[in-house]
Amino acid sequence: MEEILYRIVENNRDLAQKGKLADYIPALLKADKNHIGISLKTEEGLVYKYGDYNQGFTLQSISKVVAFILAISENGMEDVFKKVGLDSTDEPFNAFTKLDLPNVNKPANPMINSGAILTTSLIKGDGEEKFKKILELTRLMANNESITFNEEVYLSEKLTGSRNRAMAYLMESKRILSGNVEDTLDTYFKQCAIEVNTVDLANLAGFISSGLPGLEFEGISNKDMMLLVKGLLLTCGMYNYSAKYTIEVGVPSKSGVSGGIMALLPRGGGIGIYSPGLDENGNSKAGLGIIKDLSRELKLNLLYDNSI
Ligand code: GLU
Repeated sequence: MEEILYRIVENNRDLAQKGKLADYIPALLKADKNHIGISLKTEEGLVYKYGDYNQGFTLQSISKVVAFILAISENGMEDVFKKVGLDSTDEPFNAFTKLDLPNVNKPANPMINSGAILTTSLIKGDGEEKFKKILELTRLMANNESITFNEEVYLSEKLTGSRNRAMAYLMESKRILSGNVEDTLDTYFKQCAIEVNTVDLANLAGFISSGLPGLEFEGISNKDMMLLVKGLLLTCGMYNYSAKYTIEVGVPSKSGVSGGIMALLPRGGGIGIYSPGLDENGNSKAGLGIIKDLSRELKLNLLYDNSI
């Protein structure tokens, strides 16, 4: 496995420089495009690592998965899906014009920004309390008590996040979003700034794919919750590239604009990848190359049929 990770990462290293850093959150421009790392956790719990696997980066959109899990555990599945849809979308993650149409009363899904802001608003607690719960759950899932958030990235997005603010206030005006909008946004910006490395991501993925042990969900068993998260990631996890990704890679995954990719392998396995240069869809350019090669080499694609 070490040789495979080494070879695949090195074969994709060129792509890292060709990607573009996310510039709409100014602090993310400080990332080093040379960084490229991976961790792969097997179903037996062994973790293989290569490259800058230890480099810290912020979760960004990957935090939407944690917030979604928490919102379901606190509110039950029915109440959450009354407020947010389970539909894939052909729009970029930060689009929200459709939300202004008279017959649209919920964001398409919890993995686009509007849906994620809504999901975060459903987490119970005042002020800092919501964020603390998201952080605690992230630590539990990643099996790392020392995880914290990056203050500089948080403040940078808070200062420049007009687009997220606009969609939140639009949702408030349509009575889709309730509660204190600024508090919700503050929690959302902070959860996006939670800092991890690829080992944490592989553990997070493994926690979900082992059936979210120790968590309880109202109205849905842990096994079905795992199916729900996997399905959500397969259909909406990789921005506008999700459909093509499912065909080419076929592994439930979530990416974030800081350049992380979290991929769920069966039975407690998981992959974390980091390389901050992004492609036109907002996915890590080298990360995508790596996971495509890895899926082909290790036959990870769920659609793959061994007997044909
Ligand atoms: N904090 C980012 C935003 O809300 C997350 C986006 C992403 O990673 O896709 O714009």
